[in-house]
Amino acid sequence: MFNTSLKQLSTQLAEKKISSIELTTEFLKRIKQSNPEYNAFVTVNEDISLAQAKAADQMIAAGNAQPLTGIPIAQKDIFCAKGWLTTCGSKMLANFVSPYDAGVIERFNQAGAVNIGKTNMDEFAMGSSNETSYYGIVKNPWDTAAVPGGSSGGAACAVAARLAPAATGTDTGGSIRQPAALCGISGIKPTYGLVSRYGMIAFASSLDQGGPMAKSAEDLALLLNVMVGFDPRDSTSLQREAEDYARDLEKPLAGLRIGLPKEYFAEGMSSDVARAIEAALNEYRKLGAQTVDVSLPNASLSIPVYYVLAPAEASSNLSRFDGVRYGHRAASYTDLADMYRKSRAQGFGAEVKRRILIGTYVLSHGYYDAYYLKAQKLRRLIAQDFAQAYEQCDVIMGPTTPTVAFNLGEKSGDPIQMYLSDIYTSAANLTGMPAMSIPIGFGDKNRPIGLHIIGNYFKEAQMLNVAHQYQQVTDWHLRSPV
Ligand code: GLN
Repeated sequence: MFNTSLKQLSTQLAEKKISSIELTTEFLKRIKQSNPEYNAFVTVNEDISLAQAKAADQMIAAGNAQPLTGIPIAQKDIFCAKGWLTTCGSKMLANFVSPYDAGVIERFNQAGAVNIGKTNMDEFAMGSSNETSYYGIVKNPWDTAAVPGGSSGGAACAVAARLAPAATGTDTGGSIRQPAALCGISGIKPTYGLVSRYGMIAFASSLDQGGPMAKSAEDLALLLNVMVGFDPRDSTSLQREAEDYARDLEKPLAGLRIGLPKEYFAEGMSSDVARAIEAALNEYRKLGAQTVDVSLPNASLSIPVYYVLAPAEASSNLSRFDGVRYGHRAASYTDLADMYRKSRAQGFGAEVKRRILIGTYVLSHGYYDAYYLKAQKLRRLIAQDFAQAYEQCDVIMGPTTPTVAFNLGEKSGDPIQMYLSDIYTSAANLTGMPAMSIPIGFGDKNRPIGLHIIGNYFKEAQMLNVAHQYQQVTDWHLRSPV
């Protein structure tokens, strides 16, 4: 049952071979056993999970089941869920029990899915290794000396270690794709605006996008079918006709044009990753795809642009945590200003403070034009590069990360090195394009490697088709460390 696809689980539930109560109980047991080692979950609430499972069994008995009814899903602790502690990996929210559901949580609830627990993450989603969480590091289940990636490291670990059949993540600069790659699972960041940001604690609002993390592309399609949809409470939510993201999974790939940006295949990529990418591209050629060389001349600016814009937006978004309305408040203070200062100094960790300082600086009078405005202009140039590349190809491929998972502690003292882990992923957030990662093998120390697939706007169904066809002829996505 732990290696079973969502579709198979759904069939077993529908045929009453297993009940949601049984399924949920098994996963809760597994979490109890393994979570002390991995620290993938911050909160488990058996009472709520089992009550949802019971309700799901009733939906199934009444003939009202939808594809995900009764299936346990791990929710990143950035999504507000009613009655659940929702910490966003921060001490600031250590006491915050959400009084309402995020748009994404609402959609899973309506689908009859079971919330199996809240997953650990980098504090306020800032990080690439899950080492900035106030609730402790998460370990990579393939090698517990390695990071799981971040910021959705708990989610990636939970799916890889089979503590949940699937999970949600959020991706501001790579936080779904990078941990998916480092933990050997599949994950997709949809086109900006498709998944509601309502109740998803804001990091950098013009870049943040929720998405699913699972074993396979087929599972991702079923999850996207639930997660995507217009939400009037999110001002950048897109109003579009509903699509079935699984509709094209079985299409043959003959004639597919895969763009290979020469900048992504230059220096920077380690040799084990390069070998795995080449092998994956050969599989695609065997499937009838052709590769074409493309160029993204401004792509190398993605990291500096991202690290101006994301902190700028974060510094504004995080100003709401002031110790007044909710979250941490200092126990003693002299006056209001002192209360703000002390509450924020105590509630935020070092990386979050660094981002607030950078963000406030680049937005300040006198530096705004030099940094923030310049970064916005470059953001447009990067988007133009992609638009031009898509005149020659259907999808773009490359590595998700330059290396396999690094060791715990290896980069935590060096923010610049840490920031460089997003070198291939952040462009998709700057442009708003959909992008995904799928497992394609193992490299140094037998740690997983991910293939990055970037698509044009709203091409999720095509990208899932491209990923699924590869997963029909390979079995990397079926390998598990446990
Ligand atoms: N690693 C990047 C950062 O630290 C991206 C994080 C994310 O996508 N949430 O900002």
